[in-house]
Amino acid sequence: MVKLVCPCGTGGYDRCCGLYHAGVPAPDAQTLMRSRYSAYVLKRTDYLLSTWHPDTRPDTLDLTDERWLGLEVRKYTISCANHASVEFIARYKTDGRAHRLHEISQFVFEKGQWLYLDGSFPNTSE
Ligand SMILES: [Zn+2]
Repeated sequence: MVKLVCPCGTGGYDRCCGLYHAGVPAPDAQTLMRSRYSAYVLKRTDYLLSTWHPDTRPDTLDLTDERWLGLEVRKYTISCANHASVEFIARYKTDGRAHRLHEISQFVFEKGQWLYLDGSFPNTSE
């Protein structure tokens, strides 16, 4: 079997986000954020939806043909036991153009698992 490097950039896929995609709950919000980035790369729509808070989750998710180039976690903030945020920059290419997504994602811990709640977009001009 080919050893796949984890898209989130921190090692082998089967010991990193692959674990969470296979059903192990992510231990913290930052890990969940990374595993969701990897799910975007690998087009694991099922995983993205199952880790999305029911209040904000879309019914369906259409992943377009972005080619994800890399993830950089800027800041991980734990507000309390059940709330955390992760600021990150993800780079991707679509239609031959490079883009960057700068987002601060909010996560909540509910019923034994971390869930993505929503995201805000800070000034992206820097
Ligand atoms: Zn990973």
